[in-house]
Amino acid sequence: MGFVQRTKTCGELRAAHAGQQVSLNGWAHKVRDLGGVVFIDLRDRNGIVQLTLDPANLPNLSQIRPESCLSVTGAVKVRADETKNPKMATGDVEVIVTSYSILGAAKPLPFPLSDEEQMDSVNEELRIKYRYLDLRRPVMHRRMAVRAAALRRIRAFLETQDFLEVETPIITKSTPEGARDYLVPYRLEAGLWYALPQSPQQYKQMLMVAGIDRYYQIAKCFRDESSRADRQPEFTQLDMEMSFVTQEDILNLTESLLTNVVNGLIDEFQLDKEKIEPFERITYDQALYLYGCDKPDLRFGLQLFDLTSTVAGTEFGVFKATIESGGVIRGVRYPGGSNLSRKEVGVVEEFCKELGAKGMASFYVEAPAADAPADAFVSSKGLAVRGGISKFFTHEELEAILEKAQAEAGDLLCFIADHYAAANSVLYRLRLEIGNRCGLRDPRKLKYGWVLDFPLVEWDAESGRWSPSHHPFTAPKDEDLIYLDTDPGRIRADCYDIVLNGVEVASGSIRIHRTDVQARIFTLLGIDEKTQQERFGHMLEAFSFGAPPHGGIAPGIDRLVMALTDTENIREVIAFPKTGSGYDPLMDAPSTIDAQQWAELGLRQTK
Ligand code: ASP
Repeated sequence: MGFVQRTKTCGELRAAHAGQQVSLNGWAHKVRDLGGVVFIDLRDRNGIVQLTLDPANLPNLSQIRPESCLSVTGAVKVRADETKNPKMATGDVEVIVTSYSILGAAKPLPFPLSDEEQMDSVNEELRIKYRYLDLRRPVMHRRMAVRAAALRRIRAFLETQDFLEVETPIITKSTPEGARDYLVPYRLEAGLWYALPQSPQQYKQMLMVAGIDRYYQIAKCFRDESSRADRQPEFTQLDMEMSFVTQEDILNLTESLLTNVVNGLIDEFQLDKEKIEPFERITYDQALYLYGCDKPDLRFGLQLFDLTSTVAGTEFGVFKATIESGGVIRGVRYPGGSNLSRKEVGVVEEFCKELGAKGMASFYVEAPAADAPADAFVSSKGLAVRGGISKFFTHEELEAILEKAQAEAGDLLCFIADHYAAANSVLYRLRLEIGNRCGLRDPRKLKYGWVLDFPLVEWDAESGRWSPSHHPFTAPKDEDLIYLDTDPGRIRADCYDIVLNGVEVASGSIRIHRTDVQARIFTLLGIDEKTQQERFGHMLEAFSFGAPPHGGIAPGIDRLVMALTDTENIREVIAFPKTGSGYDPLMDAPSTIDAQQWAELGLRQTK
């Protein structure tokens, strides 16, 4: 079927093209039929241009529905001054169409595509079901373009660093990253299963044994996790591994890579972002102490403070009882919070209770009132306190609290009394909430940081065993190996995360490369020798053939693109995502299989 091929793209037409005869191929973005004249905004990947069509000369214009695919031919004309549209790149011109054809007719649309503002009200499952329409929207094109450019820049950078891109299998054996596996039955022998990789972790380590000392892959990872809005069953990582390196080498290379890629993308797409700065580094312990979590938002300060020793001798019952039972008193400043009414402070308290706090105590910090009694408390920095629990403390205690909190006039000081982990988990989120309320989480800033020295293992009360805080191939710090048999919780690992604006965006570690150490760690994790051989025998054996010291990292690609395109929903940066429950409404997957497939696979349905 012949058609008139485009001689220009829609987005490129300017006043300089006036008088030229052009052919365009694209979609009818908007159709406005004014009776005597029909205006169509024609859209292709490059942009939108206005067409003017005269029903007196052109037949059947009423058949052109929005999103029909068209070929048009006509002359470029400069618009009259009063009809120019400065908001459009092509707004100075229009194309006076002399002939057209409908290349692909369009049915009535399931949702309008031309009006970005209305998209928020469109059901997301419907958008995914008609993803080929949803992806026509310029904003979606742009996200895909940023994503493609990120991959292009990553590859270009890693090529300069002598990395080799290697593909590893998708149909393989379980590789543990802490989630459930997606399983694929093996047809030739019933009872045998492949697993889709949760990451290429084991393959990349075996590539190091194979002497490919700098590997990377844009890798699909598959994790069957309970449905969470911010997760996808399959997602993409930049998977990297290097031999003969120290942790420091990996941190430096990854930081240069991300700085190069992100700053390059900011320029290329003129993103409304500040260029990224050298990454801040903190240890896992510091992160918990200062921010209450291992993925702090480093765009703003408001570090948590700890009053446990400051108020150790207090007579204030709640604090006293908490400290006596081994708990802590920790808190956070709320700048400007002294303007909150009693009721508004109640809302903050409720917020904390919903997060599991037993309560939240507080008081205001202000400049001394002119009519304050002569014996009222004024700190050495000239600050007074008011309301809340301030009346329970001596002047010395108040002085020490304000000092510890680095309080300023206008603050509401918020306190949580609980066990360390419980207090942290509330204060972590309260700090973010205060950051939001105070406008401190600036979307123009991309604040990257390293969190270092994670514990090797964490006690999992549910299963009653140690579980790896990252994965079982992570190397313990040499100096901490002495705790292996006595106090495993104390072992720190050569393990690091990258956080970006409060989100974990990469994890990595130096790996174990000795069979004996790996076997001891498996044993610590409750994996007996037989199971070690069954599940990881290949790794244990590979390490006995001259394995090099190695380590790596895997930054998430989806999260990178989300940060760059200001989306909080991972599905917005994936061409064909699944819904929160792992359903693909476009392909209707997962779906049933026919009886013959059941039989071939030797499978039987039990319910
Ligand atoms: N395989 C790890 C992960 O998926 C990354 C790494 O340790 O390199 O988190």
